[in-house]
Amino acid sequence: MTVATRFAPSPTGYLHVGGARTALYCWLYARKTQGKFILRIEDTDLERSTQASVQAILDAMDWLNLDYDEGPYYQTKRFERYHQVILQLVKENKAYRCYCSKERLDQLREHQMANKEKPRYDGHCRHVQHKETGSFVVRFRNPETGIVEFDDLIRGKLIVDNAELDDLIIARSDGSPTYNFTVVVDDWDMQITHVIRGDDHINNTPRQINILRALGATPPLYAHVPMILGSDGKRLSKRHGAVSVMQYREEGFLPQALLNYLVRLGWSHGDQEIFSIKELVTLFEIQDIHKAPAAFNDEKLRWLNQHYIKTSNPHSIAKELTWHMEQLEININQGPPLVELVKIQAERAKTLREMAEKSRYFYTDEVTYHADAVAKHMTLDAKQILQDVILALSQLTEWHKEAIHEVILAVSEKLTMKLGKVAQPIRVAVTGDTISPPIDATLQLLGRERVLKRLRTAVQTLFY
Ligand code: GLU
Repeated sequence: MTVATRFAPSPTGYLHVGGARTALYCWLYARKTQGKFILRIEDTDLERSTQASVQAILDAMDWLNLDYDEGPYYQTKRFERYHQVILQLVKENKAYRCYCSKERLDQLREHQMANKEKPRYDGHCRHVQHKETGSFVVRFRNPETGIVEFDDLIRGKLIVDNAELDDLIIARSDGSPTYNFTVVVDDWDMQITHVIRGDDHINNTPRQINILRALGATPPLYAHVPMILGSDGKRLSKRHGAVSVMQYREEGFLPQALLNYLVRLGWSHGDQEIFSIKELVTLFEIQDIHKAPAAFNDEKLRWLNQHYIKTSNPHSIAKELTWHMEQLEININQGPPLVELVKIQAERAKTLREMAEKSRYFYTDEVTYHADAVAKHMTLDAKQILQDVILALSQLTEWHKEAIHEVILAVSEKLTMKLGKVAQPIRVAVTGDTISPPIDATLQLLGRERVLKRLRTAVQTLFY
C-alpha cells in the first residue's frame, strides 16, 4: 500500500508555524516511505477564505521547500462530488433530511442546557418521511449504539461511545456540504493512508470514522499532533510576536533553520538538535512525535539560524539573501557577487536581514557616515593615516587582502601605531561606521576604485 499524507489548510490567513510543522511532519513521512504528499486547500468557508491566503500558503510551502506530489486541490471545485455522495447516503438511508426549524432546535438546546445535558440533536427527523416542500438540512445517521475505537499513532487507543455523538449535518439548507463531510470525502477519494493533523481536530475523528465506514471506506490511520505553546504556556498566537512563516522570512531566518526548529518542537531523536533534511527523511517516525505540547523558544530558533548561516553552502545563503537585498532596495548588481559577501559576513550576522542591512555600503556609491564614528575616529592622526594608505594602496599592483594587509601593516609601522588604530579610520571612511568584517577583506571586496574614491572623499570632507 502506498502511503499518502495530506496537508489540508483552510485559507483564512497566513501559514502559521503550527501549520508549517504539521505540513513538515506530513511531508517527512511521505518522503520517508516514498509515498505521496498531497496539498488540499479547504476553502469551503466562503466568507473567511481568501485568494490572498491561498497565495500566502502556497508561497510559504514553496519557501520552505515542502513540495507536493498532488494538488493543490480546492474543495470549492469539488462540490459536485460532495453532492453526489450526499445523494448516495440519502438513497441508502444512511443520511436523512431534517426539517427541524431553528426555533425547535433552539428550544431543544435550551432545554438540554437547563437539564445540564450536553446539547445535541435528538434525532427527531430520523424517521420522518420525505416532504415535498419545506427547507431541510441533511444529517448523517450516526450509529446509535456501540463505540468508535481508533489507535491514534501519537495518543494511543481512543474510544468514544456512539451515544455521545449526534447526527451531524452534512449538507446545509442551501445544499452546501459541511466541513467534516468534505474532509471525509476527500480523504477517501485521495486514498489518504495517514492523517497527521492538529489535535484540535481530535473530536472530529470519531464522527469522520463513522461516515467513512458508512461509505464502505477503510478509515486512514490518525496522528493528532499537540499544539504549540508560547513562552507563557498559553497557545501560541499573534500576541507572542511572529507566528506567520513568512514573517520569519522577513526577519531573516533561513528555511532550513525554521524547519529544523519546527521538527524538534514536538519530535526528537535522542539529544540531537541539528538535522539535515536528508537525515530527517531517514530518521522521522510518527510514533516519536511527543504527546505533550511544546513551547516556542525564539532564542533556540536564533541559535539554529546562526548555525545554518555559518555552515550552509554560501550559494544557498546567497539565494535567500538576494530576496532581502531586494526588500531593502539594494541593487546587487552594483557590487561584489553575493556569494563573496556571504563568505565574509556569515560569521557576523544572526539573521539574513541583519546581513543585508550591514552590507549596504558594498552596493552603493553613497556612504552614510555615522556622526559618532566620524567624531571619534577622524582625528588629525587619522588624516595622516588615510593619506599614507591612499598613497600605498594606489600603488598596489594586485588587489587582494594579503597585499592590502601588508600595506596597512607598513603604514602602522611607519606611524608607530597599533594596527587596530590604523584600521579604524579606514573602516569609517569606507563603510561609514566602526563595524565591518576584517578591514583587508572589506577593502578587497569593495574593490580598488571604490576604496580609493571613498578614502579621498573622506580626507576632503570629514576633517576641518
Ligand atoms: N482544514 C483544517 C484546518 O486548517 C484541517 C483539517 C484536517 O487536517 O483534517 O484546521
